[in-house]
Amino acid sequence: LVARMRQFGETIFAEMSRLAAETGSINLGQGFPDTDGPRSLLQGAARRIEQGVNQYPPGPGRVELRGAVAADRARRYGLEYDPDTEVYITVGATAGIAASVLGLVEPGDEVVLFEPMYDSYAGVIALAGGVRRPVALRPDPDQGGRFRFDADELRAAIGPRTRMIIVNSPHNPTGTVFTPDELDVIAELCREHDLIALTDEVYEHLTFDDAAHVPLATRAGMRDRTVAVSSAGKTFSVTAWKTGWVMGPEPLVRAARTVNQFLTFTANGALQLAIADAIRDETEWVAAQRDALQRKRDRLAAGLREAGFGVMRPQGTYFVMTDIRPLGYSDGIELARALPGRAGVAAVPAQVLYDNVAEGRHLVRFAFCKRDEVLDDAVIRLTRYA
Ligand code: PMP
Ligand code: GLN
Repeated sequence: LVARMRQFGETIFAEMSRLAAETGSINLGQGFPDTDGPRSLLQGAARRIEQGVNQYPPGPGRVELRGAVAADRARRYGLEYDPDTEVYITVGATAGIAASVLGLVEPGDEVVLFEPMYDSYAGVIALAGGVRRPVALRPDPDQGGRFRFDADELRAAIGPRTRMIIVNSPHNPTGTVFTPDELDVIAELCREHDLIALTDEVYEHLTFDDAAHVPLATRAGMRDRTVAVSSAGKTFSVTAWKTGWVMGPEPLVRAARTVNQFLTFTANGALQLAIADAIRDETEWVAAQRDALQRKRDRLAAGLREAGFGVMRPQGTYFVMTDIRPLGYSDGIELARALPGRAGVAAVPAQVLYDNVAEGRHLVRFAFCKRDEVLDDAVIRLTRYA
């Protein structure tokens, strides 16, 4: 293994899913739903495959999907992108993020990002030879435990070598949805220091209560310095379909596109056509899914609280963060490794998503994107164990 990747082993999501499978546990670790996406989407893909849509799509993706993505982005957020040059289809958001970082970050460039951080960011920054500059999100007792950043800490993390800032909102694993004011603080720093923003918006549709997703690209001066990434996996409950998109000004998208030609070349074909239809036709399904997830959040949060966990209420995503200290535990990795064997439940220790591990030692993430009876069973098991 090359030196710059030696800091990485098996990802935490793979490890916890493996432990869950080995022990027959309920898997509230890796975030994937246990119900299917809309029928029309599944049938649309199957139909296309049977009709022979089985050869390489164009490099940048099917024009139908690029068009649907651009129209949807314009309708919901007022952001205009040219489907030919400013939208690009990738193998999941993961490949879009990787291609963007590899295409835009030089060796030695610094990348500012919020921790806890989704694991692929650290991996691709290392691949690019970049340097991570993490800024902590911490629970604010005045905001009901909502995780947020300190503007002075963010300012202090930016220096002359900073090239990029990565903003994931709605945020995995904390569930924070960044507010317009928070985005404006980030935007101002991007303008002042001439930074590129990479936004990971894969949970854009999954926001709860009165939280609404606002893309960083909508803030003043940001459209032309932001590469936005999203994907179909979470929106339509098809995480295995690995179909994502990169949206941004032509020069930034071209950078990602140049790299991606040699990573995956192109992405699946039939699925792209089915997803294009669903983006246009399944907005009601997505809204109902959002409401169902909000109820699941409440259900699991109440159960975990009852079991003795400290629970931080997420505003979006599939995940709820918990503090294990009220139960008398202090090390989330230790607890998460023990839970499958002892309690029959898998979760994800947040600590592995931090550079400053002390910040997240006591935090464990549970996924609530599961059927109600599965959530209830998990709570019974956790209550018995805790
Ligand atoms: N970003 C975040 C924050 C995620 O949680 C995930 C995983 N679901 C991804 C990116 C990857 O998305 P995809 O499966 O489309 O590659
Ligand atoms: N995004 C999913 C999660 O956060 C997992 C994706 C993966 O396994 N890499 O749980």
